Amino acid sequence: MINSLLEYQNVDTTLRDIEVALSKSEERKKAKSAQNFLNGANETLAKLDQRAEELIAKYNGAIKLYGQLLEETKEYDGIGDMNDDQLSYVKKKAQSLTEEVNNLLSAIDVLSKEIESVLKEFAQLRADIKKAKAQYAEFRPKYEELKASKEGEMTSIKAKLKKLESKIDPEILEKYKQKRKDKIFPVLNEAQEMSKHAYCRCGTELPGTSYISLKGGNIVECENCHRLLYLK
Ligand SMILES: [Zn+2]
Repeated sequence: MINSLLEYQNVDTTLRDIEVALSKSEERKKAKSAQNFLNGANETLAKLDQRAEELIAKYNGAIKLYGQLLEETKEYDGIGDMNDDQLSYVKKKAQSLTEEVNNLLSAIDVLSKEIESVLKEFAQLRADIKKAKAQYAEFRPKYEELKASKEGEMTSIKAKLKKLESKIDPEILEKYKQKRKDKIFPVLNEAQEMSKHAYCRCGTELPGTSYISLKGGNIVECENCHRLLYLK
């Protein structure tokens, strides 16, 4: 049984090599990174939209207030007819009004600059999205092509694997397939035996029960790295 599984794993290794080569291919990496960027870009765009809306609302509010303050300054046009008390009051009022207007102007200036920078971010993001779309459009078909070129080879390996499956205990085969999915590879490994103890590839010493089971020709699992183990 162990030999059958090792044989199965040998054939499976050739399939896995192709899968790894595909997944590490420049074509897939370029298509994938563009896709990831585009997925995130929508969220960034929505955030920028919201920020722009907030800034414009603040800006409009400030401009409106500025207009009201300008109106207010007109109330002091009849200054020539005032007595000293009225003049001193008006002077104070005018001073605080001037201060308010100046503060408002610098706040408006800050808001303008923020809006400008948000617009720049928009432009940059739009350019990046365009670039990512072009990259995706170029590399996705290239990757599909590469994948298609390996299709025949992969199908024949899979057929070979299917044939070998009948010689393997279904429960062990199921375990093997799950571990393969979990990216544990090679799934089945030789345990190391040293003075009546067995060790996994990861260095973990296996419990006595596992050692006995290994000696009995069974397959055991390492509790640390979850590889399957056998003894020669
Ligand atoms: Zn281990």
